[in-house]
Amino acid sequence: MHYQPTEAFAKEQDRLDPLAPFRERFLFPQTPSGELAIYFCGNSLGLQPKATREYLEKELQKWAQYAVDGHFWAEEPWYTYHQHLTKPLARLVGALPHEVVAMNNLTTNLHLLLVSFYRPAQGRYKILMEGGAFPSDQYAVESQVRLKGYAPEQAIVEVFPRPGEHVLRTDDILAAIDENKDELALVLFSGIQYYTGQLFDMPAITKAAHAAGALCGFDLAHAMGNVPMQLHNWGVDFAAWCTYKYLNSGPGSTAGVYIHERWANDPATPRFAGWWGHNQQERFKMEKGFKPMPGAEGWLLSNSNILSLAAQRASLAIFEEAGIEALRRKSLQLTGYLEWMLCHQVGCDKWGIEIITPSDPEARGAQLSLLVKGGKPLFDKIDEAGVICDWREPNVIRLAPAPLYNSFQDVYTFCQIFTKALQEITL
Ligand SMILES: *Cc1c(COP(=O)(O)O)cnc(C)c1O
Repeated sequence: MHYQPTEAFAKEQDRLDPLAPFRERFLFPQTPSGELAIYFCGNSLGLQPKATREYLEKELQKWAQYAVDGHFWAEEPWYTYHQHLTKPLARLVGALPHEVVAMNNLTTNLHLLLVSFYRPAQGRYKILMEGGAFPSDQYAVESQVRLKGYAPEQAIVEVFPRPGEHVLRTDDILAAIDENKDELALVLFSGIQYYTGQLFDMPAITKAAHAAGALCGFDLAHAMGNVPMQLHNWGVDFAAWCTYKYLNSGPGSTAGVYIHERWANDPATPRFAGWWGHNQQERFKMEKGFKPMPGAEGWLLSNSNILSLAAQRASLAIFEEAGIEALRRKSLQLTGYLEWMLCHQVGCDKWGIEIITPSDPEARGAQLSLLVKGGKPLFDKIDEAGVICDWREPNVIRLAPAPLYNSFQDVYTFCQIFTKALQEITL
């Protein structure tokens, strides 16, 4: 696309955008003066679909009318309610339906998956991850490694960017996997790095992990609903995600997991068990002896959080309608426009601002991270002017134009506000 730094161009792109009408289906926060905020924080908490309320009200109504009978006798009974989410979730991650299930929260699921897939044996005890992974993932891995009797300093191998660089080179990741191949139990990476916005080459990493004799899993917190994936075809062993970021399912909403059928369908795959993972037909016999459901459902512990799943269904229905491939096509243009405007209109260079997210569109999703030394006052200034984005210590502003509800006009207006703020402060 040939970008132009004018409002007329932005408006024309919005007019041509087949996904533009989806913006109307979301509720935008307002600035104190009553205008809609420029919302570039969908990587942290996605906006509320207007339909969410109806989905919730339906379940509240069922609860009021049927109470406990809602589990079995109402329309869309709660007993199997989580299964309504399976197909849309499977499409988003590129899995077979029985390889995914909605459950728990992300960090909880990481622990459960580490129980199943971090099983040190025969000198293989190391976990390889990206350096600077999201803290919760670091804590989860650290504690799991200790639980198995290893020191985190010995068992966790972190791969960092080269000196003077901000993102990882795929070759360096693959080389690190190969260097550790005799002791490697597991490669655990994020799909998209939360800080830099780098989209990792998941198929290449999976292939290298397997070649090294290790398993491979991904934390898809920032990839889910952001980029299309093919976890099953890539042979990924397991993955986990949250749903309140690009997936717009509401704060703390129910997360999900993918487990490749080679593990998920094998009742011998070790796991922590609970009654909701027990054979559906026999669950209420309340008998001794765990018999897992086939597929990822065999990892369920508890009965589902129905209200949270209802909110998630509202959002998944929108994703089904828009299609993740079409969203990705728009996302490439929208994030590309933001990058182009920052470079050519705002002139980031001249302000000493560096975009640390990869410039290769295939190596990023809907996020640009700006390295701004001493940038907190700048962040506060754009915040006051009605931009909602986020500040990540020590010096990064993250901007996430989400293709479902952000427009080219948003990008244009943001750049006007950003330029004005830069002129008013000293970096
Ligand atoms: C957002 C995010 C989390 C959050 O974990 P919760 O358990 O949902 O609180 C964890 N890991 C990564 C990589 C994230 O981006």
